[in-house]
Amino acid sequence: MSESKHLKRVALVTGGSRGIGLGIAEHLAEAGMDLAINGRRPESDVQDSIDALRRRGADVLYHPMDVAELDEHTGLLDAIRSRFGRLDVLVNNAGVAPHERADILEASPESFDRLMRINLRGPYFLTQAVANWMREQKQADDAFRGVVVNVSSVSATVVSVNRGDYCISKAGVAMATQLWAARLAADGIAVHEVRPGVIKTDMTAGVTAKYDKLIAEGLTAEPRWGTPGDVGRAVTALATGELSYATGNVVMVDGGLTIQRM
Ligand code: NAP
Repeated sequence: MSESKHLKRVALVTGGSRGIGLGIAEHLAEAGMDLAINGRRPESDVQDSIDALRRRGADVLYHPMDVAELDEHTGLLDAIRSRFGRLDVLVNNAGVAPHERADILEASPESFDRLMRINLRGPYFLTQAVANWMREQKQADDAFRGVVVNVSSVSATVVSVNRGDYCISKAGVAMATQLWAARLAADGIAVHEVRPGVIKTDMTAGVTAKYDKLIAEGLTAEPRWGTPGDVGRAVTALATGELSYATGNVVMVDGGLTIQRM
């Protein structure tokens, strides 16, 4: 059966229901894309986010699922196929911090396994499934240009000894980006990484006072918290395909946190 001709480009943003993922989805909608987003909560809990995206002109599919459960990937992609018939952009954004920040001398293997499953293994295999679909689309239409953007973190290179599991999961995402970029370049599919610094979302709500103080003391060269919109703009610049002959790039959205200074 032939797939319907959906004219707008379609992006899947994992964890697009709030925080950085919602900021990314908002900017992609404004750039003229239709959207598939997911999270784990039921649709009734994320209606405000869906409405906000529709107001920006996007057709929105919300499909609740856990990115760590590889068996659920097929259902997500089938839903996108039947709604839109195409997928041009994958943004691997969904991710979690450890429940408790614990010294690496004491942190548990359970926390390590949870972070690897959600932050690294899930997106790695979701990319595999999407990449195979994008390659099919490229074979059917030579003008097709797929883009994958992985949202990692400055923690891919900056050490926090009280959340080693998080840092290792994000360092893995950085390597996964390089692997997929190399494997998919010949198919015209670009793969990039966006590395946010300290961004104001639910994830950082519990450490607001700590980062307020660190930012006031000069943690970032630009003296403010980042916003989901800051990350959304960077992802959209990559996802709209304005860059050519470019893949495997790392875009820092960290207010200069990782610039070595003295
Ligand atoms: P957040 O506010 O906690 O939002 C997380 C989003 O991911 C929600 O939409 C959530 O869905 C979804 N999600 C979480 N676990 C999931 C799972 N197993 N399956 C499917 N969806 C899941 O987090 P955030 O601050 O926006 O972070 C987004 C990404 O940016 C993460 O990868 C994070 O590591 C990275 N990052 C964040 C910061 C920061 O300072 N905030 C800095 C650097 C990198 P529900 O709403 O259904 O739970």
